[in-house]
Amino acid sequence: MAEQSAIATVPTGLFIAGRWRATTDTLAVLDPATGRILCQVADATPDDGLDALAAADAAQAEWARTPARERSDLLMRAYHALLDNTERLALIMTLEMGKPLTEARGEIAYAAEFFRWFAEEAVRLDGGYMPAPTGGSRFLVAKQPVGPSLLITPWNFPMAMGTRKIGPALAAGCTCVIKPAEQTPLSMLALAEILREAGVPDGVVNVVTTSDPGAVTEPMILDPRSRKLSFTGSTAVGKTLLQQCARTVMRTSMELGGNAPFIVFDDADLAEAVDGAMAAKMRNIGQACTAANRIFAQRGIADEFARRLAERMAALPMGRGTEPGVVVGPLIDKDAVAKVSTLVADARQRGAHLITGGEPVDGPGNFYAPTVLTGVPDQAQMCHTEIFGPVAAIAEFDTEDEVVRRANNTPYGLVGYVFTENLRRGLRVCEALETGMVGLNQGVVSNPAAPFGGVKESGLGREGGLTGIDEFLETKYIGVKL
Ligand code: NAP
Repeated sequence: MAEQSAIATVPTGLFIAGRWRATTDTLAVLDPATGRILCQVADATPDDGLDALAAADAAQAEWARTPARERSDLLMRAYHALLDNTERLALIMTLEMGKPLTEARGEIAYAAEFFRWFAEEAVRLDGGYMPAPTGGSRFLVAKQPVGPSLLITPWNFPMAMGTRKIGPALAAGCTCVIKPAEQTPLSMLALAEILREAGVPDGVVNVVTTSDPGAVTEPMILDPRSRKLSFTGSTAVGKTLLQQCARTVMRTSMELGGNAPFIVFDDADLAEAVDGAMAAKMRNIGQACTAANRIFAQRGIADEFARRLAERMAALPMGRGTEPGVVVGPLIDKDAVAKVSTLVADARQRGAHLITGGEPVDGPGNFYAPTVLTGVPDQAQMCHTEIFGPVAAIAEFDTEDEVVRRANNTPYGLVGYVFTENLRRGLRVCEALETGMVGLNQGVVSNPAAPFGGVKESGLGREGGLTGIDEFLETKYIGVKL
């Protein structure tokens, strides 16, 4: 499908109460590979946000009463519709976000899977019945939807971070207002239209795009009609939102930043470890919360591991994500390129060795060459912040205790990776890592059927898996005197 005709299929208004609404002001969506404007979308005011919340609130009671089987059927229709539209949606995502088409297709499949998973979970909400231990009365325990939910998503996975929240919210019986990232609103707007066509009732799903996120979302958070905030984004913004939520004691789920350690022991299968590092580092051009941020290689294999990784990184075809064969697309914006350049310069100045890459690419797009550094000292800035780019930072280590201590020396705790053929050591290190998730001999952990989330400053709550729906449910206990 031609690029402009794909973009032209996306509604550009606000989606409120089942209707598309234009705004006076608009915001431009750019192609990060060229810097060109793709289109303009609506730019909501705080009043628009409150209208969306009012629509979600008005639809809440009816949606909560809708039989779970009907909610499930709707999600299943949306699952099929997403898959049927894969090529169009993948192209839209590549154009607004930059990731190569192959990865964008993968994200559509991953995003759709959240709808299927939660369609299956919608009809399995359970409760309890038990005699009080003291006798006399009975305990009934029921699950109820938490209510209208505000869902805020980042630009790096513009479709999947949305369906990972919309799926469980709708399955649980919650209505919602979604605020996608301003750099990548098109995927979510296209999804809203798909949900409308799949039969989502008016007001159950609302989408608000804005260039002033704080001004639009704070009044919604402080409004007692909103009962839940599910946020995916940076730890800094997450902390601000948590403070706002404290004022009304609002339920929150927080999927925040990471600083993943990737540990390769001497006894690892080196080919597998290099494959794992490529996946954990280069997925989404390094712009993932799960990205391998600090790679620790044990001294016996460190040189060979770095050599093989650098060979693979240097050979990656870079270019616009729409071009066939491209694996490395552009970063999201010029600030991202500047940040990566600063981090690489800082690490080199502190003694790290550059094996390959190390430069931004001249031109209108936001490209940075795949880069491998060795001997990166723990004090380097890139060990304390998300690199969010195609830069592999390798450091050596000697002992298990030492690497666990260094890996845990961060306020973040989203995910870690461990490569070893020694099962006992593997499990020991998995247990010792202060993270919500670990990949043992695998470089990708994301799976809709698994509980995704972090500890420490990487977040609160879990998305996906058997517990993902609980984030949108309240537990009610009813004491019955017999
Ligand atoms: P971000 O700057 O925190 O933005 C995330 C979302 O919050 C966007 O929709 C953004 O809107 C909005 N936002 C920004 N400031 C806000 C405010 N004051 N009030 C309300 N909303 C506000 O993060 P990002 O740069 O888009 O995404 C990258 C970050 O997300 C990284 O730290 C990454 O690790 C994290 N992430 C975590 C996970 C996970 O599952 N743990 C998954 C993906 C990404 P605008 O776009 O308009 O700024």
